[in-house]
Amino acid sequence: MVESTLFTKIIRGEIPSSKVAEGEEWYAFLDINPHRPGHTLVVPKEEAQRISELSDESRRALLDGVIEVQRRLSVEFETTDFTVNLNDGPLAGQEVPHVHFHVIPRVAEGTRRPMWTQKKDSAEPDFAILAALAERLQTH
Ligand code: AMP
Repeated sequence: MVESTLFTKIIRGEIPSSKVAEGEEWYAFLDINPHRPGHTLVVPKEEAQRISELSDESRRALLDGVIEVQRRLSVEFETTDFTVNLNDGPLAGQEVPHVHFHVIPRVAEGTRRPMWTQKKDSAEPDFAILAALAERLQTH
């Protein structure tokens, strides 16, 4: 039997996550090592490594999930602007072999920069902060 991906285990609740929202075909939760506050991952419940391997239904629903997550993040972070990224395979930098969109709210920071040129914060995840934010986002 093939082992489930980390994200399938998260969707099933076998590994804890800071849930942001959920649809029939997708699940959204906070990234434990965020590029910016509010960094959310939106993943299909269908397990596939690349977008081309997803069913039509799942692929279409996934973008609805991204939009729903943006709506919630826009309330919390008071912005309409986001970095949305998908690393489609290991050579593109994909670490977890399960399709996922990164959705990162962008607010004024003095300069405008593309996100992926910057290093992530390598500090230990602050699970209490993530849990409190996830709880607020679920109510938006
Ligand atoms: P990628 O490099 O595009 O495959 O992104 C994988 C993302 O998953 C990274 O941003 C990680 O910080 C994030 N990640 C890994 N493990 C977890 C986890 N248990 N909960 C939430 N996010 C995770």
